[in-house]
Amino acid sequence: MGSVSECSSACQATDVHFVKLDKTCFKWFHGATQSEAVDMDFSTMHLCLVCHAEPDVWDGGYASIDKVLPRFVVALEGIRDHLGTTPRIAWCLTGEVAKNRPRQFKSLLEFGHEIGVHSHFPGETGTLEHSQNLNFANLGRFDLWFPELCRQIVDAGFPPPRTHASWMFAYRDAMTGVLAGAGISVDCSVCYGGAHYLPGGSLLADSIGRSDGKPYRPTETDHCSEGDGPLVEIPVSGGFGSYWEPNRKGGFDYFSPIASDHEKQRQLMLSDERLGSLSPGEVDIFQVHFHLYEFLEPSGISEARLNRAAAMLRSMACDDRVRFSTPTDAARDWLSRIEVQNRRVSDPADHS
Ligand SMILES: [Zn+2]
Repeated sequence: MGSVSECSSACQATDVHFVKLDKTCFKWFHGATQSEAVDMDFSTMHLCLVCHAEPDVWDGGYASIDKVLPRFVVALEGIRDHLGTTPRIAWCLTGEVAKNRPRQFKSLLEFGHEIGVHSHFPGETGTLEHSQNLNFANLGRFDLWFPELCRQIVDAGFPPPRTHASWMFAYRDAMTGVLAGAGISVDCSVCYGGAHYLPGGSLLADSIGRSDGKPYRPTETDHCSEGDGPLVEIPVSGGFGSYWEPNRKGGFDYFSPIASDHEKQRQLMLSDERLGSLSPGEVDIFQVHFHLYEFLEPSGISEARLNRAAAMLRSMACDDRVRFSTPTDAARDWLSRIEVQNRRVSDPADHS
């Protein structure tokens, strides 16, 4: 929280009260309680965990859901943010997972988790759901099959998904309108600061136009430019098994945060930097993405990897600005904070 002092212009108007926070000047309404004012000053970083829940990449099976999921949930149980909230996960399901393992995910809803959608091209079973050729070939026809994928999730007994993560972080500008039309309000697909390609050189997404991982509302014609489009974008800002740190030259440096203590520290440094960039009253959202199979080694579940993931979250949650939230809840808070700030800055008298 920044230092608070009154502006020299304080109380020249009768219906507003001016408060200065560091270099930013905010206007409060007369009559706002101290706690409302404090709440407005206080910056927040929502920590959102987004799981790409898909069949195992090596055989199209469900060993990671059957074996890792229960252990993963237990590993997170003792972790709390300063409000006492446990980590909330957006389980973004592929069509195959929704059809074949619904029970495992339904049971998590009552603990505050969220069910989203992970847009592997539907209609193919097993390893074919991972086929790069098939998925890439269908990117341009997203409008034809994405609504059907959402329907598959609802047909499997889940609430309509609100959060989306794309296959291989692929993004086409036309997807924004398709996602919104299918009821999605939060997208978690953008790897900011660079362009990434399939090993063969096919472009998955070009997000060079975004310089940081803070949330924004992409326009419907350019997913990198900020506007008042229908979605909130929560860019990928971290990971467990994999993260691609923007190298400021349009590419990414890869590392695996849970593979070693050194890499875990590297991820924590990035979240610390992000916390350091918060301005008073700002709401930020930090997305950590992962796959359950990142915790499976040929010999079985890796306790060391589970422990590193838990340690990372515990460490991030030490800062009392950090909250564990689902993407939907985080985006709602971000939007409402912006609305209040715009209202206060534009014409406070309208709302007295
Ligand atoms: Zn995937």
